[in-house]
Amino acid sequence: MQHADIIINNATILTMDSSNTVLENAFLLISGDEITHIGNQDPTAFTAEKMIDAEGGLILPGLVNAHTHAAMSLFRGLADDLPLMDWLNNYIFPVENRMDADFVYTGTLLALAEMIMSGTTTFCDMYLFEDEVAKAAQKAGVRCLVGEVLYDFPSPNYGPVVKGLEYTESLIQKWRNDPVVSIAVEPHSLYTCSPELLIASNELALKYRVPLIIHVAETLSEIDEIKGKYEKTPVEHLETLGLLGPHLIADHCVHLETPDIQRLANHGVKVVHNPESNMKLASGVAPVPELLSQGVIVGLGTDGCASNNNLDLFSEMDTTAKLHKVHTMDPTVMDARTVLKMATIEGAKALGFGDITGSLEKGKKADIIVIDTHKPHLTPLYNATSHLVYAAKGSDVRHSIINGKVVMENRKLLTLDLEEIIARSREISVQVRSWLT
Ligand SMILES: [Zn+2]
Repeated sequence: MQHADIIINNATILTMDSSNTVLENAFLLISGDEITHIGNQDPTAFTAEKMIDAEGGLILPGLVNAHTHAAMSLFRGLADDLPLMDWLNNYIFPVENRMDADFVYTGTLLALAEMIMSGTTTFCDMYLFEDEVAKAAQKAGVRCLVGEVLYDFPSPNYGPVVKGLEYTESLIQKWRNDPVVSIAVEPHSLYTCSPELLIASNELALKYRVPLIIHVAETLSEIDEIKGKYEKTPVEHLETLGLLGPHLIADHCVHLETPDIQRLANHGVKVVHNPESNMKLASGVAPVPELLSQGVIVGLGTDGCASNNNLDLFSEMDTTAKLHKVHTMDPTVMDARTVLKMATIEGAKALGFGDITGSLEKGKKADIIVIDTHKPHLTPLYNATSHLVYAAKGSDVRHSIINGKVVMENRKLLTLDLEEIIARSREISVQVRSWLT
């Protein structure tokens, strides 16, 4: 008889493995931080310390939010419906200049609570005071790839940019052996970083073999600025500086010329698509079907809460599928399976975590969510993938396990004190309001 720490039974399991295996009336075993068995034979042949009954629901890999700025949760709804530069210069930058470590820690905890409660088990973050983000993720037990934002002007965290590179290096060393936290090098964008900073960032990433993450070709004004300064598209500029490679994660990639798509594919660059943020800021529609057809790995992100305004990847999946259909006037593009893969295994691959998470397979880390399908909006159920993309909501996630640890059971957070986080976030919001008056 095989023994495990946790058994989850009575479920339909969507493994998201390379054959898209789906098992009915199935169960899954976890020992330590790993999945040790998935099957639909006789579950009585197995024993476990803890039993979770999925009650006929769905088990799938935890979702991967491949691009966000978690602590911006505290700016949710602060300013909407404005032109990008007005929004940034008159609202976001002035409040970000007043931020401190405690602000980022609390804002990240708030984001983590929201992410766990809507099915995310891995996230990728770019922000300031990133050591606080790593500490918050460690406390919550949520897998992450995080890095300090680097740009040419002084930061309220580290001061001058040379200190930013040193700070990033110290983060890489500090968190090197953590089971859930990984560090990346994260220059903000081509319009806020000099060629020298971009090259130094890339050297640091290559030295430690960690990902390099940057916003690329997000808006038309960025395209104009980069073409005006360097007579190149943003992707050509990155290629000239030697930054294109399989270690590069390019966020947004909204405005790409056809040769740019080929360049990204040739160099194995990973792309993260953030449709709701791109829609809300009226940035444009990224050519995701074209990127996928060229073999580029594309993950899905919510971006920060100030431009979305939530961290619910179920909503993001629904938007992704529908946006590309209406944009191309073709209902067959971005089918549900493609989109669900972007939010799971493809997102994991984009972050360099494809071998450990993003699908349910024996030997992989146990990052698992259980969906309650006993709901009017999920009844009847002909096709689980269709429901997950077009009908389910984050609030349908009932249990969540990350790295073998139960972090939410029956909608109750087990690693975070939700009431305390909400109370502290409300206190900080009073301060934020005063910064703008
Ligand atoms: Zn962003």
